[in-house]
Amino acid sequence: MSNVEQTLSIIKPDAVERNLDNEIQQLFKDKGFQIIKEKKIQIEKSEAEEFYKVHQTKPFYNDLCSYLSSGPIVVMVIEKENGILANRELMGATNPKDAQEGTIRKKYGISIDKNSVHGSDSPENAKIEINFFFKD
Ligand code: UDP
Ligand code: MG
Repeated sequence: MSNVEQTLSIIKPDAVERNLDNEIQQLFKDKGFQIIKEKKIQIEKSEAEEFYKVHQTKPFYNDLCSYLSSGPIVVMVIEKENGILANRELMGATNPKDAQEGTIRKKYGISIDKNSVHGSDSPENAKIEINFFFKD
């Protein structure tokens, strides 16, 4: 049975700043993702705090929220068969040092915080995160 899923992808400030957004979008297309919605925005720190609230007890939370709101980002709804896991695989490990060859974070990630992309980690969170940025 088919299981086409939509997930939320964010091209983070470190990548947008280096003008990598088109190149990263092409990698998604090459992997068979359709980009259903996209917008380039800059969010307030308070919005980043809401978006990343699952991490609010973590030591990196404050820096993470400052960082995500520090410059323009590209938020996208992307779609593919088993797309949530497929996106996590294409992104690679959270720390670019641990990411496998061919993954976005291996190619473009600078450090564990400036790791170029975000992707939803479960069907439940994909729904919440898509709704967070695209409420229509
Ligand atoms: N992060 C960080 N330091 C850490 C762990 C995570 O700065 O020690 C940042 C990093 O940008 C990561 C984000 O927090 O992408 C969310 O962490 P998570 O564990 O959810 O990783 P992801 O799902 O993005 O791979
Ligand atoms: Mg995560």
